[in-house]
Amino acid sequence: MSDSKGILPSMRLDGMTALVTGAGRGIGRGCAMAMAEAGAEVICVSRTRSELDELVGEIEALGGTARAETCDVAEPEQIETLFAGLGKLDILLNNAGMSTVHPVAEIPVENLDRMLTVNCRGMVLVAKEAAKIMQAQGSGVMINLSSTYGKVGRPTNSVYAATKHFVEGFTKSIAVELAPKGVRVCAIGPTAIETPMTYDRLHDPVYGPDMLSRLPIGRFGQVADVVGAVVFLASPAAALITGTTLMVDGGWTAQ
Ligand code: NAP
Repeated sequence: MSDSKGILPSMRLDGMTALVTGAGRGIGRGCAMAMAEAGAEVICVSRTRSELDELVGEIEALGGTARAETCDVAEPEQIETLFAGLGKLDILLNNAGMSTVHPVAEIPVENLDRMLTVNCRGMVLVAKEAAKIMQAQGSGVMINLSSTYGKVGRPTNSVYAATKHFVEGFTKSIAVELAPKGVRVCAIGPTAIETPMTYDRLHDPVYGPDMLSRLPIGRFGQVADVVGAVVFLASPAAALITGTTLMVDGGWTAQ
């Protein structure tokens, strides 16, 4: 229910516990900060302890609450250990992911395996552990990181796009499965966002302008463009929203 006096529902996350995978840099980092600002206690997860400690320090300096946990989502035992220590979980941002670009005839098998392992298997195993907790609670929200490439394809991005189409199918299916248990599952679909993963690519003299030409809004996205969508989907304001992807793509997939 709304905590306001009128009809406007709350977008606050006070009293909620959120876990963010891939929180050390880029989109995950921004979303961890935004959810903390909205009142959630945030568990910040990635493989690089120093980045997580710095993030937790920044959140605390702003008056928020957070803690750091290292976990490689490519390692199933590490995921189990991470979740074994959790009492409650209200929000999961299933964000850890990676991409490399290759023409289809040149895809290295190790890159194929890595993208499938992190973007698909890792996402499923993290959601699996979160589902156990959220079903037992009878409440919770999962938000999975899809992409423009969860909706459309693109040359040299075939494997990455395939992993994001996987995210779309996985999100819809578990949303339907978990809705009767009080758990919502959504995805967000960002376009080209300037992060450590994409910065060099987006500023490549050939790749960059070609990407820009597909963006009706006329610019690349920033992490700040994504965080509001995540906080909204996590909040009581999105109580009837499940099984869908909120595109944050500057109109790319509207064409
Ligand atoms: P990024 O800047 O490279 O940050 C990725 C984060 O994930 C880092 O904190 C990284 O930390 C962590 N991570 C990577 N592999 C991991 C693993 N195996 N286990 C645990 N953590 C891992 O990436 P980003 O651009 O923010 O992208 C985040 C998500 O958004 C991805 O799922 C990506 O596909 C999606 N996305 C990005 C864009 C974009 O344009 N940037 C657009 C659409 C969707 P460690 O290396 O320390 O583990």
